[in-house]
Amino acid sequence: MAGCWQAEKRAVLDASREIAAKGLVVGAAGNVSVRLGGQGDELLAITPSRKSYHELAVDDIQVINFDADSIEGDQVPSVESMMHIAAYRRRPDVRAVVHTHSVYASVLAVAGLELPPIIDEMVMSIGGGVEVTEYAFPSSEELAENVSEALGERNAVLLANHGVVGVGADLREAITVCELVERAAQVYVLARAMGRVRLLPDDVVATEKELFKMMHLAESC
Ligand SMILES: [Zn+2]
Repeated sequence: MAGCWQAEKRAVLDASREIAAKGLVVGAAGNVSVRLGGQGDELLAITPSRKSYHELAVDDIQVINFDADSIEGDQVPSVESMMHIAAYRRRPDVRAVVHTHSVYASVLAVAGLELPPIIDEMVMSIGGGVEVTEYAFPSSEELAENVSEALGERNAVLLANHGVVGVGADLREAITVCELVERAAQVYVLARAMGRVRLLPDDVVATEKELFKMMHLAESC
């Protein structure tokens, strides 16, 4: 019998296939979720653990609450469920969380280098540079706490020796944030390899951060 939230589960499935098709993850790596209900609600639909995106069906998407208890579905929810929940708890405005292992973002995460504000689009969509968390074991409570802390008011964070988390008001925004982090990371790695990186001027970054806040405050009203 089809349960509730079919449209939301379908959207999570489509998003997970999209990040696989775009090469942001391989196999069953990474995970995708969406907040169910209104702003601040404590329920989410999330990809299951250990299933390749190519073999996922709508009913494999799990519905869980903020204690990670199963509400709907018979698969094991993503092992990173607590990380998603931590992002939703930290940011009531966030409605979607996408976690990928894209290559250039992972290069920075392995090097322990934060991604500074180098491209205008990045500041307006992410809210500034992207910090790298302290290292924590995948699926651990510590990783969830580190993500919540390093995310702050911005829309992305790099996980040390691991990958990226992007958040947004919907799945489209969270995927775009992950793609943008990957693109900016690629530009940054190549510019560093050339031996020269010029950051955006401080006053421009300050103005763009204000624009980011205005756009996101407007969206959450
Ligand atoms: Zn991961």
